[in-house]
Amino acid sequence: MIIGLDFDGVISDCGRLKSDGAKHLYGVEIPPERFKKELIVDSGILTLDEYRHLQKQIYGTREIGLTMLPVDGVLELVPKLQQEGYDLRIVTSRGEPESKIAREWMKSKGLDVHLVGIGGGVSKADACKGLDVYIDDDLDKLEPLVDVVPHRYLFSWGYNQHIKVPKSVGKRIKSWQHFYEEISSLNGKCEPN
Ligand SMILES: [Mg+2]
Repeated sequence: MIIGLDFDGVISDCGRLKSDGAKHLYGVEIPPERFKKELIVDSGILTLDEYRHLQKQIYGTREIGLTMLPVDGVLELVPKLQQEGYDLRIVTSRGEPESKIAREWMKSKGLDVHLVGIGGGVSKADACKGLDVYIDDDLDKLEPLVDVVPHRYLFSWGYNQHIKVPKSVGKRIKSWQHFYEEISSLNGKCEPN
């Protein structure tokens, strides 16, 4: 079974990284669980330009990027799934310079997962062809995968809690432990490849 993973918000805790970055750059306190573009920009806390600048800084600056924290459970359960024979791959909207930082960070954490960075503003549909599973923290990224990837999951965070997830698009996953259990139960239902 081939499992596709988003990077920011599934492997790395990007809410925490954005919150720290906003404090550093703009002196504003925004809790990680509120850190979603539409929540921050629509409420006027940051302008769209400020938000984009923040993203560029936190994802594109090596020194900041390497301070990312892993999502709880990821350092144990990614290797565990690989040992059990699952083929794990990362498909991220990061561009190449940001992907390079993500690869270096993973190496420092002992994670060995192939990472493809397709760049922002591009649908993940082509890059996700052939995957059996895909998990992302952004519903917009799952929508184009409905006819491409059979099993789609939204990684739940405070910042996406306000979004209704149609059953036809995906299922919410609340933690890495929950994802691990879901994969194990899928494997019982699917033909192993
Ligand atoms: Mg993400």
